[in-house]
Amino acid sequence: MIKQNIDIVNANINKAKIESNNDLARLICVSKTKPIEMLKEAYEAGERHFGENKVQEIVQKSPEMPNDTIWHMIGHLQTNKVKKAVELASYIHSVDSLKLAETINKCAEAINKVQNILCEVNIASEESKYGLNEEGLYELVKQINDMKNVKLVGLMCVAPYTDNPEDNRKYFIKLRNMKDNINNMNLSNISISELSMGMTGDYEVAISEGATFVRVGTGIFGERNYNI
Ligand SMILES: *Cc1c(COP(=O)(O)O)cnc(C)c1O
Repeated sequence: MIKQNIDIVNANINKAKIESNNDLARLICVSKTKPIEMLKEAYEAGERHFGENKVQEIVQKSPEMPNDTIWHMIGHLQTNKVKKAVELASYIHSVDSLKLAETINKCAEAINKVQNILCEVNIASEESKYGLNEEGLYELVKQINDMKNVKLVGLMCVAPYTDNPEDNRKYFIKLRNMKDNINNMNLSNISISELSMGMTGDYEVAISEGATFVRVGTGIFGERNYNI
């Protein structure tokens, strides 16, 4: 079941990559709320990147998965959970405040790690969503430039929910333009390449606008049930 879904998603990803000349896009399997057996099936199908919304789920699942599993923390992160996130996650996608970036920097320094992070942008200025506005993003990037134990690798957004993926194309273009603007700031330690954008409903459009990480949950593991 999962293997078949992964085959379909990867076929769609490869088609979108070829059509748009974007050979950088990689799949993150978003396994939040899903049991470890499903993650293992995805691993056996060849997937290595897994995304979780809660640090606690990475804490529980990581000992059960092979060592070369790459964990992505994609959900909102509270500062009291940062220590564990830094221990376990290769990438933290949801950095949206100076306080959070500083806490990550401090926890990473304590274990001699340079933590890969992405800044989360609230791309459609939705009240219900986390993330920085454009001005706040550039301000935070300047501050991150001085931090030794975080490496800013890119930007992340969660586009609005829609039935028509084309509706989100403008937001993906907007995030890509912000990436270009940041690289044009010529900050000594900042050069970003990652665009974490696109989910089950719109990952092909995201790839056509330059996504390097697409985060697909439902399309691989099926609908989530938050009541269990
Ligand atoms: C849940 C989640 C996803 C995956 O969403 P699907 O629509 O199930 O593919 C991607 N990114 C973030 C930040 C999420 O919370």
